[in-house]
This record gives sequence, structure tokens and C-alpha cells, in this order.
Amino acid sequence: PYSLGRTILDYDARRSAWLAAHPEFPARVPPAGRPRVLVVTGSAPARCPDPDGDHLLLRAFKNKADYCRVHGLEVYYNTAFLDAEMTGFWAKLPLLRSLMMAHPEVELLWWVDSDAVFTDMRFELPWERYAAHNLVLHGWEAKVYEEKSWVGVNTGSILIRNCQWSLDLLHAMAPMGPRGPVRDRYGELFARELSGRPPFEADDQSALIYLLVTQRERWGDKVFFENSYELNGFWELIVDRYEELRRTGAWPLVTHFVGCKPCRRYADSYPADRCRLGMERAFNFADDQILRLYGFGHESLNGTAVQRVRNETGGPLDAEDEELGRLLHPTFRAA
Ligand code: UDP
Ligand code: MN
Repeated sequence: PYSLGRTILDYDARRSAWLAAHPEFPARVPPAGRPRVLVVTGSAPARCPDPDGDHLLLRAFKNKADYCRVHGLEVYYNTAFLDAEMTGFWAKLPLLRSLMMAHPEVELLWWVDSDAVFTDMRFELPWERYAAHNLVLHGWEAKVYEEKSWVGVNTGSILIRNCQWSLDLLHAMAPMGPRGPVRDRYGELFARELSGRPPFEADDQSALIYLLVTQRERWGDKVFFENSYELNGFWELIVDRYEELRRTGAWPLVTHFVGCKPCRRYADSYPADRCRLGMERAFNFADDQILRLYGFGHESLNGTAVQRVRNETGGPLDAEDEELGRLLHPTFRAA
């Protein structure tokens, strides 16, 4: 079968040796000693067919740059198919594998889809909760293992540890992904074996769920199902409520525009206008959290116009109340 590359067996020992030899690149970072994290995202090599698509991608990346700056996370944006077989949503497999081995200092990689928007700039992940696990998914254990639901987890925003186990997992998923007949056949298998899954070509999310369901003993104990906050929030249930959420305060960390496909002319599931306005609102809701730090905000979440929300006082930092300060000079940010 197809493989991502040579089989790697002694990765954990090699990584430990590298870390021991490079104390200047520790896998945990100050001030709190959280794991070193690399946010990984990307989009297709070619420009979007939709005239608005690349602009939406730009704004989606601007949003990620903001979140990563506030939280002191490094970010990598990929626009290459590193492997001709691993196109589309499968592109993240060879990418994560290469980045892991090239960056032994990185403890966790955080894959974030291009169409996932950070909508709570304040929220720092509870890193220590995941210390004993290698893969963190937004989803529900029972939906995966009992219902075998293909939406039991979502792979649009996931944490994966830089270790042998993760290389093994990518290696186990890869044979289901080569484009063409193999990917099509696995798509049919997933449609039969997983509940609610339409019969389209195999996707990495279904492949992962299929592996968990059929090889639970091999993978199960290192997978953490997170549902206490929106590591991956479904956009349809969120985008109409930002004004209300702004008043009540419980914001979704991520608003993910699953099924919207701005680069495929809004194929299938959702009306283009609904997707487009939802994205506009998500970008503006998030950007307002940043603009506010500098005294500005959007007139409305539905448009691009901004206005002053605070008078200039002329002195440095005199507008820094406690809440603004938490984002301007965050204590959780790595030095
Ligand atoms: N992607 C990529 N290269 C491609 C196509 C997709 O890197 O050629 C990434 C991109 O970040 C995208 C993700 O794969 O967000 C998953 O695809 P998509 O978001 O369209 O799927 P959905 O979330 O709607 O299931
Ligand atoms: Mn997506």
C-alpha cells in the first residue's frame, strides 16, 4: 500500500537525544512552562476560482496571526502539496509528519483549517489537561465508539503531539488517502461503516474515526475528546449570535465554516450568501477584540467600517484597563 515515507521506529529516543543536545530549544517554554506549540494551517497551491476566495483566506490568516501573536504561538502556513497523492484535506498528513521531524523542539502541533476562525482571542488552551494524551479532538467518545458517527469528531482544529505514536497514526491513516481509485474505494467503505456519512471520496476525518473504531485498543487511550469548550465550533449555530454572545461573555474559541468551501464556488451544502455573511461576522467579531486594544471597533459586525470607541488621551498605556491589558501584555505569552 501507499506510504508517507520510510517507517520510523526509534523516533522518541532520537527526539529526546536531540532535545538533550539542544537545551537552547526546550520543548517547554516560559513563563508557565507550557508545551512549545506550532500552529499549522494552509490552503491550496492554486488561486481560488471564486473571486472573493483569496481575500477570505487572507482575512482568515490575519485572524490566526492575531491569535498566535497574543498567545505567543508559532505559525506555519502551507500552500504546497508535499506529496502528489495527498491532495486536498489529506495534505495535512505529509505536512505534519515533515514538520514534526524537522522541529523536535515543538511539543504539540495544532492543525487549524483555513476556514476555522479564532473567535475568542482571550482563550488560552488548558495545556496541562492534555499531558497524558497525544491527540486532542473536538468531539464525543460515545459518538465515535458507539454511534460510529462520521461527525463524532472534527479534524479541522486538532492538537497532535510530536512523538512516535503520532507518526504511527499518520502512517496508519495514509494508505486510505491516495487520490484516485483508492481514495474512492475507502470513501465507499466509510459510507458503509460510519453512520451518517455520504458516499464521497475518503477524507482524513472519516479515516481517523474508522481507525479509532476498528483499532480502539491501539489508539484509544491516547486520544482526548474535548467538548468543554469550542476547540471546533460549528459555524451555523454561532454566526447569528455574536451580538448576544458579546453581551453574555461565553465566546466560542473557534468558529469553523465546515462545508462552506469559498474556493469551490460554495459547492453543495450551504447557500453562498449565508456562508459569506457568517464569515464576515466571524472575522469582524474577532477583529473587534484586537482593534479595541487600539481604541477602534466595527460599526457593525456585518460590514468593514470601523470607528473610534475610545478617545485618545496622549499618554502611553493610560487606556490599559485590566481587561485590555490581558491581551496587550498577556502573562501567558511566552517571553
Ligand atoms: N487544505 C489544504 N490544501 C488544499 C485543500 C485544503 O491545505 O488543497 C486544508 C485547508 O486548510 C482546509 C482544510 O484542508 O481548511 C480542510 O478542508 P475544508 O476546510 O475545505 O473541509 P471542511 O472543513 O469543510 O470539511
Ligand atoms: Mn474546514
